[in-house]
Amino acid sequence: MDYFPEGVVDPATIADCSDVSYNYGNYRDYFDGVLEYEDGRFHIYLNTHGAFEPSIPRMRFTFAHELGHYFIDEHRNALKKGKSLHTSFYKLQRKNIVELEADFFASCLLMPEVRFKELATSKKFDFSLVELLKNSFQTSISATLFRMIELDTYPFMVVVSEANRIKYHWRTEDFPYKYFVEHGTGKLPVLTAAGDFFNHGEEYADTEEVEVSGWFNSYKDDYRGITLYEKCIYQTSLGRVISILWQ
Ligand SMILES: [Zn+2]
Repeated sequence: MDYFPEGVVDPATIADCSDVSYNYGNYRDYFDGVLEYEDGRFHIYLNTHGAFEPSIPRMRFTFAHELGHYFIDEHRNALKKGKSLHTSFYKLQRKNIVELEADFFASCLLMPEVRFKELATSKKFDFSLVELLKNSFQTSISATLFRMIELDTYPFMVVVSEANRIKYHWRTEDFPYKYFVEHGTGKLPVLTAAGDFFNHGEEYADTEEVEVSGWFNSYKDDYRGITLYEKCIYQTSLGRVISILWQ
């Protein structure tokens, strides 16, 4: 799909060029978005509840996700037969395969592989690169990080923690560390920048240098004296910290 060779991908333009109508409305907290088939036509309802404007990354992702249900043949055909797919809620991770497929579609649509890789490898990896990508593609921090992992643009890891526990983690194939210090318990390792938030309420504005052994264990390698970078993003309203780890 090459509607936007240079600029930011706009899901509304794609809907306009296809046979899908859409509208924004306040549907309280029933759903973020939903694609419906009615009277031989497809329509996407997008929920503005919670002051979600069409231009914000989350709304763009929801719109792209619903387009995924339209453009993926199995999804569209199921809807045409009167089957219901879901009502879509935006979450960091979903298990339903239909949802994962639509998320993957959205990710590829909003962050086209060639352009994304080109920009992601245009400068040295650090948090400013993540921000550059996020701003260039108008995507959320988590969607951007997820795409960077998917396309393996640099060895790094993302750890999402809540209530002093590791909720999710994703790593590129080539990130050299694998087993957390509290491996198996789900507890967030204490001697980490994220750990400082949950244990001492400390927030770091900058990237911190932390000991590899603070985060990871190994039975065969000696991590003494080796450090890595940790950048924390504090989503305090959700009680969540996202740690980006790299060397
Ligand atoms: Zn969905």
